[in-house]
Amino acid sequence: TINQRLDKDSLIMICDEFNFEVEFAEQYGKDILSSEEKETKKEKLKTRSPVVAVMGHVDHGKTSILDCIRKSNVIADESGGITQHIGAYQVEFHNKKITFIDTPGHEAFTAMRARGADITDIAVIVIAADDGVMPQTIEAIDHAKAADIPLIIAINKIDLPDADPEKVKVQLVKQNVRLQGWGGSVEYVECSAKTGEGIDNLLETILLVAEVEELSARYSGNAEGVVVEAKLDKGKGPVATILVQNGVLKTGDIVICGAQFGKIRLLLDERGQPVPICHPSGVVQILGLNGIPQAGDTLNVVLDEKIARDITSKRQYIIRQRQIASGKGATLDNLFDRIQQSELNVLNVIVKADTDGSVEAICDALQKIQSKEIKVNIVHKAVGGIVEADADLAAASNAIVIGFHVRPNAEARKSAELNKVEIRLYDVIFEAIDDVKKSLEGLLAPVIHEEAIGTAKVKQIFKISKVGVVAGCYVTEGKIINDAPIRLFREEIKIYEGRIASLKRFQNEVKEVHEGQECGIVIENFNDIKVGDIIEAYIKIEERKKIE
Ligand code: GDP
Repeated sequence: TINQRLDKDSLIMICDEFNFEVEFAEQYGKDILSSEEKETKKEKLKTRSPVVAVMGHVDHGKTSILDCIRKSNVIADESGGITQHIGAYQVEFHNKKITFIDTPGHEAFTAMRARGADITDIAVIVIAADDGVMPQTIEAIDHAKAADIPLIIAINKIDLPDADPEKVKVQLVKQNVRLQGWGGSVEYVECSAKTGEGIDNLLETILLVAEVEELSARYSGNAEGVVVEAKLDKGKGPVATILVQNGVLKTGDIVICGAQFGKIRLLLDERGQPVPICHPSGVVQILGLNGIPQAGDTLNVVLDEKIARDITSKRQYIIRQRQIASGKGATLDNLFDRIQQSELNVLNVIVKADTDGSVEAICDALQKIQSKEIKVNIVHKAVGGIVEADADLAAASNAIVIGFHVRPNAEARKSAELNKVEIRLYDVIFEAIDDVKKSLEGLLAPVIHEEAIGTAKVKQIFKISKVGVVAGCYVTEGKIINDAPIRLFREEIKIYEGRIASLKRFQNEVKEVHEGQECGIVIENFNDIKVGDIIEAYIKIEERKKIE
């Protein structure tokens, strides 16, 4: 129908059927925010410093190398070293700057690329000399190759007695990485993050590779950049770390970051100190956004707030529509999955938390607790407080909202109340997970046990007008309860299953009759009772299934 959203593949297929070609806009508003860079003549561009990502197998020393570099090469300042982690920082070496992305690991690197942000110029692949090339080393190499950026191999931990750099080099040949002096041109260094040996050499090599790359940027005009990291700060509000790629970012600029906008109140450097401007390859935190953008979002400076508001509200609308579509499983392949999984119970969840790390940690843990019959489906996850859009989305997708260190604003609360959306707030991750586990257990069909509670033998039959057949019984075992379900057996064969309509002792209605006592039983909608029949009463016990 006209207001139905389609996924990319379906769109292409349909348009193809009508002989049209489809061109997908990367993001709404990109054309409006015309890139000044394209119009800038080459001679106006100036050399900029490289942006470097450090990747490699776990425990091979990525963090240690970054720490080592940071400790000895931070741009000197009276306020001391870098006190906070903001996602990226610049160091100075031989009077030249290098920007390091401080989120080691190729997952973050590729997640950014997936969002259209190719921010890294050079990839440093760290390989421990005692361990050699490992699965994640290969992955990291592949990711860097896919991004088409130069590699530098850092063979680390050469201080260890069992370090064998030569073995690493041989292994690299197998991975089609041909090192300088080994018939190839890939630069490498041997170093130790522990002793500091070779680290200067690594920095020199980075500068050398950067020079070859002839990295350049526009040093005037409106800034363009990328969000490296973003979070909600208790005191400062939404805070985003921006890597400036072109132009000059200034306090007072009106910026669009993905689907958020704002007027920059303050630029803070990696030491938490205010700075007036930021140049290309520089990293700053910006304060003043109205919401939290996502890592990988692009930043653009616009002339007035109206444009910013228009573009971001459309972007938010599109995001919401997409989420609703994905939540409801509107895509074709999804539909098929759903039919196949119709036996499956799904708990839809929206996760909001104060930092990217918490969001990921919660989502990871949630996805791990599914059992065979049950599944947690994360409809949406993001950093930031719970807003109206979250509650709306939850209503549309029948989800619960989990807030970690965040709370709903007034609109969100109203919408949640109106739509009966459950919002749960937590301060401890474990509690959130445990609660969801319990909800999941609630979705599992309970196991129903039956337990016989008593039997009675029919001794005599009375036919009473208006009442029907009353069975005069003797309770042979246990007890008979007036509202218990019963089965009637005749010569060990089940004749009827139903409920007791009336249970009497002498003339009185009673709740229960015990072993050895006589009573009158009327069975609901059943009159064909005979002397010698056995009435068995039982109860149903529901037992909730547990998830391990
Ligand atoms: P990451 O997982 O790649 O970030 O690795 P880490 O930087 O956390 O390092 C993993 C372990 O290796 C830590 O215990 C470090 O102290 C140790 N390590 C890192 N670099 C060196 C090094 O050059 N020499 C030695 N001996 N140990 C190192």
